[in-house]
Order: sequence, then C-alpha cells, then structure tokens
Amino acid sequence: MALIELADVCKTYDVGEMQVHALRPTTLKIERGEYVALIGPSGSGKSTLMNTLGCLDRPTSGSYRLDGVEVATMSRNQRANIRNEQIGFVFQNFNLLVRTPAIENVELPLLYRRKRSGDRQAKAAELLGKVGLGDRLDHHPGQLSGGQQQRVAIARALVSSPSILMGDEPTGNLDSRTSREVIDLFRQLNEDEGLTVILVTHDQDVARNARRTLVLRDGLIECDTTDFSEALAALHRDPIGERDQATAEA
Ligand code: ADP
Ligand code: MG
Repeated sequence: MALIELADVCKTYDVGEMQVHALRPTTLKIERGEYVALIGPSGSGKSTLMNTLGCLDRPTSGSYRLDGVEVATMSRNQRANIRNEQIGFVFQNFNLLVRTPAIENVELPLLYRRKRSGDRQAKAAELLGKVGLGDRLDHHPGQLSGGQQQRVAIARALVSSPSILMGDEPTGNLDSRTSREVIDLFRQLNEDEGLTVILVTHDQDVARNARRTLVLRDGLIECDTTDFSEALAALHRDPIGERDQATAEA
C-alpha cells in the first residue's frame, strides 16, 4: 500500500455560472520516502493538488487514501487531526511569529498536544539543531536571514514527527544563495531521515533536487518522471491544442 493513493480525484470550483476545473481526474501514487516536485505553469493546479494532498481541502469527487485511510470524505475536524499526525507544512512567507524566539516558534504545534513544557523545549531544540540552528534558539525571526527563517519553519513543521513534509513555493521568497541551504536541507531530510517530501515550486534548482517530478498543465498531470530533463521538456512543450485554439479565437 502506497502512503498516498489518489483515484480519479477532481476539484471543481463554481464561480458564478462558471465551473473551474482546477484538478481534472487524477490518479496518483506516492510511496513512503519519495521526494516529489510539482511544477507547471501558473494556474495549472499545483496548489490545488498540494492542498488536496495536504488535507487542507476536500476533492469534489474521487478517492484519496492517506496511509490506507480514506480522507476525501472526511469532515474539516477529522482532516485537521490527520494533518496534525501526518503532515508538516512550510510556506513561501515562512509564517513565523515575528517577536517570538525561534525555539518558541518551533514549540508551537506541541502546545496543542498538552506536552510538558520541558519536553516541548527539548524537542524544539533538537529539531533546531537538526536544521543547523542549534546556536540560534533565542533569535527572533527578524534577527535571522530568510534561509534561516525558512529552516526554523521546517523545524516547526517537523516537531510533531509527521511522515510527510509539504511546501508550496518554499524558496519563493529567498534569493538563490539562501535557497541553496533550504534545498540542501530538504534533500538531507529525505535521504537521512527517510521523510517523504512533496514540494510545489517554479524554482528549477528545487525541482531538480527532487527525485520525481510531476508536471501539471490545465489541471492534469501531463508528465510523471524521474528524469528531470524530460520534465523540463514537458514544461516547455508548446501545447498544440492551446495554440490552435488561440489562433481560432484570434
Ligand atoms: P497553481 O497553483 O498551479 O497556480 P491553482 O491550483 O492555484 O494553480 O489554481 C488552478 C485553477 O483553479 C486556476 O484556474 C485558479 O484560478 C482556480 N482556482 C483556484 N482556487 C480557486 C478558488 N478558491 N475558487 C475559484 N477558482 C479557483
Ligand atoms: Mg499556486
């Protein structure tokens, strides 16, 4: 049984009279320990697929089994519980509490788990050590570089021991030098800790670092490959149908 199994998952948004097919029927398996990048043009459905995988959003139809459990039909509260157990998230803008030391930012998810304060601090310090910030426990986000802030956010995402780390454009606010430290960390967490990593990105350095790439276009996985050059070719392929349509409309 794969960690993630989607069968014919669709996501449709009703906008007034119109229906937006953000995700067309999608069938997909991701095994434990994989490192997957989702790439594709803007509006191709990357965030929709990520939010579905991350149980933030419910598909319109289809089945999603996460670790053998059907989550597509779960209520908001049930999904929140699954997320807390299984999934750590990082975001483009880090989402850290600004005037709060790194260690308290990392401890935050454990507050809801009624862990003892000493245990929380020890766990948070351990995670900050793991992301290379063992000497920055008391620094506020404002006293850290962008790359360091994202590493704090990664430590926070991992503090409740999830099996999957997900990120939507996790290097989107970083320059190429600070991106590198975050990219290296994703790789290390995947290789050394066996963590399943799934990232949405338009940063080719991030995508190349993953071991499998899904290329989305118009709500469909157009290419699913472990050969990054093949993914790049699919990304840059001029979709003939669209060009014909554009010509017809002109
Ligand atoms: P990407 O992340 O690849 O840029 P998204 O998954 O955000 O793409 O969006 C896919 C499509 O679904 C787009 O056409 C977008 O406009 C539409 N969409 C996304 N979220 C909503 C929403 N809440 N309501 C209506 N349409 C949406
Ligand atoms: Mg997006």
